[in-house]
Amino acid sequence: MLIVQKYGGTSVGSLERIRAVAARCVKAQREGHEVAVVVSAMAGETNRLIELTSQLRPGPGDREVDVVVATGEQVSAGLLALAIRELGGQARSFLGHQIKILTDSAHARARIQAIEAERLRACFAEGCVAVIAGFQGIDERGNITTLGRGGSDTTGVAIAAALGADACEIYTDVDGVYTADPGVVPGARKMERISYEEMLELASLGAKVLQIRAVEFGMKYGVPIHVRSSFSEATGTWVVPEEASMEDIVVTGVAADRNESKITLRAVPDVTGVARRIFSPLSAEGIIVDMIIQNISHSGHTDVTFTVPKGDRERAIELLAERCPELTGEGANLAWDDDISKISVVGVGMRSHAGVARRMFEALAEEGINIQMISTSEIKISCVIREKYSELATRALHDAFELERPEGERRALEGERPAGRG
Ligand code: ADP
Ligand code: ASP
Ligand code: MG
Repeated sequence: MLIVQKYGGTSVGSLERIRAVAARCVKAQREGHEVAVVVSAMAGETNRLIELTSQLRPGPGDREVDVVVATGEQVSAGLLALAIRELGGQARSFLGHQIKILTDSAHARARIQAIEAERLRACFAEGCVAVIAGFQGIDERGNITTLGRGGSDTTGVAIAAALGADACEIYTDVDGVYTADPGVVPGARKMERISYEEMLELASLGAKVLQIRAVEFGMKYGVPIHVRSSFSEATGTWVVPEEASMEDIVVTGVAADRNESKITLRAVPDVTGVARRIFSPLSAEGIIVDMIIQNISHSGHTDVTFTVPKGDRERAIELLAERCPELTGEGANLAWDDDISKISVVGVGMRSHAGVARRMFEALAEEGINIQMISTSEIKISCVIREKYSELATRALHDAFELERPEGERRALEGERPAGRG
């Protein structure tokens, strides 16, 4: 079999741990598998590098930041290759540009466009473990790029797709995907399987156990992803295509995202083209707008509220002030709030069951938590609340949907019926 193993920061956080990873790689190879290993930077290293660069005031999407930040993965790749040799195995390390992992030029959030797998195949043919630096790539002009926080997951799954691997194992510091962040909800349950769709929602709603793009690659190329612990042999969670029985489970998990900010434009004229004037400058700079609310207009005016990633809030405010002064300038009201958390419940069964929203709102109300914004899709409901209530809300929702209990033993939703949503 051809297996891709990806190890996160904690799993390669010290030489001792790197040696343990090396032992696992060598074992897989001795069992007869071809093994490609993708590594993250050692725990804390990426944060340290970002902090260093930020003291020198880089511009938005600065190429030099990626040059610095990509080095964390270079160190772990080299160390792991050495550790495998120390154990008597054979290994060769590869950086993004050596393979090559071609990306677009969006620094700090580049997207993988193509991977040339020949060098990796040649490496296997020589009996070597291929050790690949995660998180980094190269654009068509030869600039070093990085894939966004958590991007080594995406390198892992994309390499697995490019090689047609039998599985991509994501080794991390938890032993699978849980019904909520186990660091926040001690009673969270490990799932045996989860559909790509649900994992995609959980990842995009703040469950950082897998990067969103990794799940997208897995889904698009049918790569089976196995999320498991690097500290044990236990089976983790398989991310797989949706199975019919999965719809029986209405709510699969709860996620919280504290990484967004809210921006409000008050009393903007309620005329055609206003939304375009507000959102075009933001999208032109690649700022991703998430939830948007526009309320009923009073006397020809309306309020528009939306969320953007916290790191883009300052730039978004600058752009709005610059590009649409008639909406945001003198006399108008442009306000923002960084003190928010987006809390979500996710489940493919919501498509066919009512009552989820009601139970969610009840649970938040019982804790005295005010809801500032709401958005829904076919398989999730999200609410924006004050950031300080994020963990309380996560636990309250986990309790309300009885996610600590085995799936078959959960109380039916009130008014549950197999049609519509609510
Ligand atoms: P790595 O460094 O291995 O990539 P991450 O820190 O990126 O690890 O992701 C693992 C962390 O994700 C866990 O320690 C856990 O706190 C967090 N997490 C958030 N939501 C979930 C969830 N639903 N299931 C499992 N882990 C989760
Ligand atoms: N080292 C990078 C980060 O901390 C990539 C990763 O760990 O996946 O975000
Ligand atoms: Mg990660």
